[in-house]
Amino acid sequence: RKAEMAAVRNLPAVSQDSVTVELLMNAGLLIDLPHLDECGATGIGLYRTEIPFMVRDAFPGVEDQQALYSKVFEQTGSRPVTFRTLDVGGDKPLPYLTMEKEENPAMGWRALRMTLDRPVMLRLQLQALIRAAKGRELRIMFPMVTDISEFDAARGMVERELAREIARGTAAPSEIKLGAMLEVPALLWQLEKLLPSIDFLSIGSNDLFQFVFAADRGNPRLTRRFDSLSPPMLRLLSDLTAQANAANVPVTLCGEMAGHPLEALALIGCGIRRLSMSAGSIAPVKQTVRALNVAEVTDLVQHLAGLRTRSVRGVLRAYALDRG
Ligand code: PEP
Ligand code: MG
Repeated sequence: RKAEMAAVRNLPAVSQDSVTVELLMNAGLLIDLPHLDECGATGIGLYRTEIPFMVRDAFPGVEDQQALYSKVFEQTGSRPVTFRTLDVGGDKPLPYLTMEKEENPAMGWRALRMTLDRPVMLRLQLQALIRAAKGRELRIMFPMVTDISEFDAARGMVERELAREIARGTAAPSEIKLGAMLEVPALLWQLEKLLPSIDFLSIGSNDLFQFVFAADRGNPRLTRRFDSLSPPMLRLLSDLTAQANAANVPVTLCGEMAGHPLEALALIGCGIRRLSMSAGSIAPVKQTVRALNVAEVTDLVQHLAGLRTRSVRGVLRAYALDRG
């Protein structure tokens, strides 16, 4: 595995027909960061910030958070890093925050919903991020955006915190890019209005798949029943990407799908050109990209998206094997 990584680390993720696919890394702990250099990712597409909040017995203060985010910036150097604001609640409870027991925690008081209701949590996190950026580009995305008004409220908070920080002498980030995660189906029918307001879109396919199929992402009884490599998912992702491309909004997919070579092939066939995954997946996915003819895969995936079948995994696997 190590040898495979080293062999492809410095090779570009470019297909046979010269299409570049950006391969980014998911991270959430400082110990993940050294992998960025080893694996050859071009940046961090998803930095999950909740882990330090979950392992403590009190809410981390601004200084603690700033120190942590500074280390992330140090390690990524000139490569881009996208921070996701706190995605706790639901099945990721915080021991020091009393939460009522919920019947459906995945669809409950979590992520942006919670941090908009407890704005001090979000404000402190934004302060820490702005301070840690120290004049660099700051990329922030918000999890579980369901209604545009939530994104607007979050953006308003970023603007207010930025103004406060500048007033107290903090160097402003060179640029702030704000994105929405697409994980809740309701957002699909607000894209026309959302796209002009965001700098990027990141598809959280783990949650999106669970909500589109009404199938708990952690329930083993359901894992074989529904397949993400299926016409509805391919159609959804293709339409979504086409809409974002038309509005010039970059799309990344940062769920587990991105890290599996066959899924990555299908996602590229849906038009997605940025994939964010765990460090160990970069080398195998890069090899898939390098062997691929994107035009051909696009035709195939668009054809498969129109079939009347539960899963297209077998067809895609046969195609991939046939093509070596
Ligand atoms: C997702 O839902 O696909 C995602 C990337 O977020 P998480 O797995 O942390 O919910
Ligand atoms: Mg999610």
